[in-house]
Amino acid sequence: MSLDYQVPLRDMRFVIDEWIEAPAWWRSVPAWEDLDSATAQQVLEEAARFVMERIAPLNPAGDLEGCRFEGGEVSMPTGFREAYADFVAAGWPTLALDADAGGQGLPQLLEVALQEMLAAANHAWLMSPGLTHGATACLMAHGSDALKRDWLPKIASGEWLATMCLTEPQAGSDLALLRARATPDAAHGAWRIDGSKIFITGGEHDLTENIVHLVLARLPDAPAGTKGLSLFVVPKRTFGETGERVRNGVHCEGIEKKMGLKASPTCSMRFEHALGWLVGEPHRGLASMFVMMNAARLQVAMQGVGHAQLAWQRAHAYAHERVQMRAVSAPAHYEGEPAQAAPIAFHPAMRRVLLDLRATVEGERAIGYWIGYWLDVAARHPEAHEREAAGRIASLLTPVAKAFFTANGFAAASSALQVFGGYGYIHDYGVEQILRDSRVAMLYEGTNEIQAIDLLVRKVLGDGGEALRALLAHVTAEAARCIASQDRALHGACARLDALVVDVQRITDEIRQGSADDRELPYRVADDYLALIGWLLLAFAWARTLRIATDASADDPFYAEKRVTALYFFAYPLMAFDHRLRLIETGGRDPLPYA
Ligand SMILES: Cc1cc2nc3c(=O)[nH]c(=O)nc-3n(C[C@H](O)[C@H](O)[C@H](O)COP(=O)(O)OP(=O)(O)OC[C@H]3O[C@@H](n4cnc5c(N)ncnc54)[C@H](O)[C@@H]3O)c2cc1C
Repeated sequence: MSLDYQVPLRDMRFVIDEWIEAPAWWRSVPAWEDLDSATAQQVLEEAARFVMERIAPLNPAGDLEGCRFEGGEVSMPTGFREAYADFVAAGWPTLALDADAGGQGLPQLLEVALQEMLAAANHAWLMSPGLTHGATACLMAHGSDALKRDWLPKIASGEWLATMCLTEPQAGSDLALLRARATPDAAHGAWRIDGSKIFITGGEHDLTENIVHLVLARLPDAPAGTKGLSLFVVPKRTFGETGERVRNGVHCEGIEKKMGLKASPTCSMRFEHALGWLVGEPHRGLASMFVMMNAARLQVAMQGVGHAQLAWQRAHAYAHERVQMRAVSAPAHYEGEPAQAAPIAFHPAMRRVLLDLRATVEGERAIGYWIGYWLDVAARHPEAHEREAAGRIASLLTPVAKAFFTANGFAAASSALQVFGGYGYIHDYGVEQILRDSRVAMLYEGTNEIQAIDLLVRKVLGDGGEALRALLAHVTAEAARCIASQDRALHGACARLDALVVDVQRITDEIRQGSADDRELPYRVADDYLALIGWLLLAFAWARTLRIATDASADDPFYAEKRVTALYFFAYPLMAFDHRLRLIETGGRDPLPYA
């Protein structure tokens, strides 16, 4: 059985061309009027080749070798440096960067697909360039002209890597507790940063000659809380008056020994009188940092999809190869004798697992890429109100994707491990690493609980429900397109989708009303509410897929399999929606005791 990661190019094309119909929209955008489906596919094929040949093979070995910390410096595992240099030389970091900022100016939608490939191929390797886009977007939006001139081009191109320095020992989810300080340095027209940061991904490494840290710290007159945080560019190396490189007061004190991502250095950093430059307004650093965090959250969501894809691929291949026990039935095309020992893929318990994995990953891919599409609309639509509406939908969907996809990515790895039986527990079979590597995605970039609060309290209850109404209108429109279908299965799926929207509207109204007297209520139900919206989105994804597959040629196995998976999704996994709905109703009624 091959453990090689295969990029699911056929499904990616389906989502981009048929599910989103992106090429039709590209034609209406002046910058992309020449971008057609074939060109987009060429880009993805090229990316897939690079990822499969250069990045994926480093994954298991990097996990075993890990990073080395010695004398304040970090060495990356064998091959990581060369692969990163080739990644930069090929221009992959600037795929979706605006052409006038030196990038290739392609849609974010393609960038999202690239992120999925990289995460599936080698999550640990991806962690190093993972913040390039967020740092670029942050500096483009909030950096002064001088910062843009001095730092942006090399960060955007990937020549220098960037980090995001928020976390301190006493301050994780609660950034109000941050203590790092910034004092003015009039001689340099800059600031001096002092303090400790922990868990900093790529805080030190040997991939690039310079590392640019984006650090949250407090000015001397800062008010308490998150409104007193300012953001600084703090490079590992600065430049002297004659352009010579000068080591800044940025020190790596060690790297964590951790459960997974062993090939990604998670660093404890000490900033000691380090020279830094303010990004944006004083005390408004969190707003600038949010630009970076939003970009990173979608990327983390796609890590969940990548993990689920890899888990599914490996489990599917193994289940068709591993022969154990007699099967009660077998597919029509099977030439063997199921009453003898049969592939475990024939046993109903294993079929359920494989179908669950497939329904999850393909549904999530559609939704993840759809967010990329909304980001493109938000950036490129000629009408300002359309750009704003698209931005609101992307912002509503991002925490759902981050939390729901990463939880499912970890669950998928666990399910795949079960398919492998005892072999799954052994490193050589390539699934226990997915389980270990995927777990952190539920924790970083804002834990999944923080995403749930962001969704329900800020983005649903906070804005009067406008963004949710816009999302539900898209779902209802999809249901309306096929509810009158003669095809019974398609009609059933769309009627169900319509009913889900009614449930979401009702429960959202109940939460809103109940919160008036019971302030804890939204916090009690936030996690279940996020999962409820996650299941709604998967139902939307599969209803649209079923419509497309029903219209397509029944002889094409690709669409036949889509139809089978869609019907399975509506019959089995979607029951989780009802379960979450009941939990929210319970949370609305019954206060939680203290544990
Ligand atoms: C491998 C790795 C890489 C990382 N990379 C970076 C990086 O590059 N830069 C960086 O700044 N940080 C990084 N982090 C830190 C990461 O972002 C934090 O771990 C995360 O924000 C959570 O903070 P914490 O660990 O202090 O947990 P805590 O905030 O202490 O949370 C503990 C638990 O309590 C829950 N909780 C807390 N508050 C609430 C609430 N109000 N409601 C409900 N539940 C709540 C959390 O969801 C969590 O389950 C990284 C962490 C890891 C493990």
